[in-house]
Amino acid sequence: MTPIHYTIIPARPEAHLYRVTCTVADPDPSGQRFALPAWVPGSYMIRDFARHVVSIRAASRNRAVAIEKLDKHTWRAEPVAGPLAVTCEVYAWDLSVRGAHLDARHAFFNGACVFVRVLGQETAPCELEIVRPGGARYRNWRVATAMARKGAKPYGFGTYLASDYDELIDHPVEMGEFTLASFRAGGVPHDIVITGRHAADTRRLQRDLERLCGHHMRFFGRPAPMKRYVFLVTAVGEGYGGLEHRASTALLCSREDLPREGEVGVSERYRTFLGLASHEYFHTWNVKRIKPAAFVPYDLDRENYTALLWAFEGITSYYDDLALVRCGLIEKKDYLELLGRSITTHLRTPGRARQSLAESSFDAWIKYYRQDENSPNAIVSYYVKGSLVALCLDLLIRDKTRGRKSLDDLMRALWRRHGLTGPGLEEDGIERLAEEVTGVKLGRYFDDWLRSTRELPLKALLATSGVEMELRPAESGEDKGGKPARSKNAAGLAMLGIRVRTQGDDSAVTHVLEGGAAQEAGVAAGDVIVAVDGLRPGRGGVDPVLANRQPGESATIHAFRRDEMMTFEVRLKRADADTCVLAESAGARARLRERWLRPRRV
Ligand SMILES: [Zn+2]
Repeated sequence: MTPIHYTIIPARPEAHLYRVTCTVADPDPSGQRFALPAWVPGSYMIRDFARHVVSIRAASRNRAVAIEKLDKHTWRAEPVAGPLAVTCEVYAWDLSVRGAHLDARHAFFNGACVFVRVLGQETAPCELEIVRPGGARYRNWRVATAMARKGAKPYGFGTYLASDYDELIDHPVEMGEFTLASFRAGGVPHDIVITGRHAADTRRLQRDLERLCGHHMRFFGRPAPMKRYVFLVTAVGEGYGGLEHRASTALLCSREDLPREGEVGVSERYRTFLGLASHEYFHTWNVKRIKPAAFVPYDLDRENYTALLWAFEGITSYYDDLALVRCGLIEKKDYLELLGRSITTHLRTPGRARQSLAESSFDAWIKYYRQDENSPNAIVSYYVKGSLVALCLDLLIRDKTRGRKSLDDLMRALWRRHGLTGPGLEEDGIERLAEEVTGVKLGRYFDDWLRSTRELPLKALLATSGVEMELRPAESGEDKGGKPARSKNAAGLAMLGIRVRTQGDDSAVTHVLEGGAAQEAGVAAGDVIVAVDGLRPGRGGVDPVLANRQPGESATIHAFRRDEMMTFEVRLKRADADTCVLAESAGARARLRERWLRPRRV
């Protein structure tokens, strides 16, 4: 097939406009159709990227060709003998990892936001010419992408090559004056590209990511899935996000999450960054290659439903932090703290009694990705609960096989059967393969953990691997769990059962939790609390005002609902024991715990 030729130029950085041209040598003789994706793989929400197309025109041999719009994201050009070129101006002012961004500082885009798909020629190879913007201020810009070069010099503007449209949109591109560091892991060259103001110790990042990537490579074994890998990192004041691709990842982080020169040990913030990098890197195997059959191929026009997101996001979330302890970047106690926090997050989600994990996966498009004030009461996260089901599965298999088998064996089997060879995973595929690989009957566990809202047997299963789980009430609004109580007489706070956002000295209610004291008294999301027992909450929120109150006592709340003043008499409740602390236990199970968590060969 003749390659499809794309050109992208950051034409007007000050107006955030890219100019993108797609040239087709052999257009459909009945009128070539073009479409932009409705979503970007990895982020399960309809985003309708076509809304950022501000103009489109078509031409053939310098002659204008009529082009009409057929639906929200599809166009058809009038029949021509060819070649046919379509040129769009695309507005790009979204700094998220799923979007496209352009200003005079730098440019970043996902192909799904900017490149039209040539309908009927999706499998044709694609050439991409990336053009330097005009003007002296762009003289030092370079290009970072995992896309193969065809003529372009390393990190240079020029021509790149993708084997088809699916690959074209799976290599995000960064342009600008970025920091670059490189290393090899598993024989594969890796780049770390950092955009934005930062003071990171790049040698440290290089060393730590090399260790982490080497660990993941050894976990799945050779051959490596990619020839080259790029971490595209954007550092901002406050931000967090990641999107996985076949040979790269885009990460958004706070510059404070990156390690500074001379910093020793792994700070909580750096641990967050390492966990994110580990998560997206694990996806190179789990979801970019081991995929649900529902994604083969992706239907970019609409929602792609699967009940398996728990396996792709949840299992990946389980291994992201586990890899940090296994490769020796963090200590066992740090890992148990992180796990304790995940369990705490899960236990503080009343929606776990309403939505099963399979339902959470299936409805990701309209629920997890479109959260509102009632979400904590209505949904469960396929990331958080998914990672806890992965934990339960791992511990159960280890216990039933006396440590001979584990979730690791299932992951490697998935890689050999589905990742390396390609067939998508059927909806019941992982359950069948898990039984086959481990020899353990797992049917009723999967029914309970995936398709019901029964509580997970976390305490019992952790005990089988020598970890003791305790639950206590939260000590304050900042208490995320994972650590023992600071004071011995933590009998429990009196709780309102709300989440708030401070708004000056007032507190705006963002969520009213199911069964909580505030819900019973009639407080609603959106109410702005101006007084608790006659006192203004202040910048610390409502927690400190209630610090000395006892469960069972009453409190009077004054709040504005829109412009109307409301008064609520709230009967305070005792805080639930929903804060999890994990500790290694002494005894015969230590051997299994070591097999599970001990550092692997590095
Ligand atoms: Zn993920």
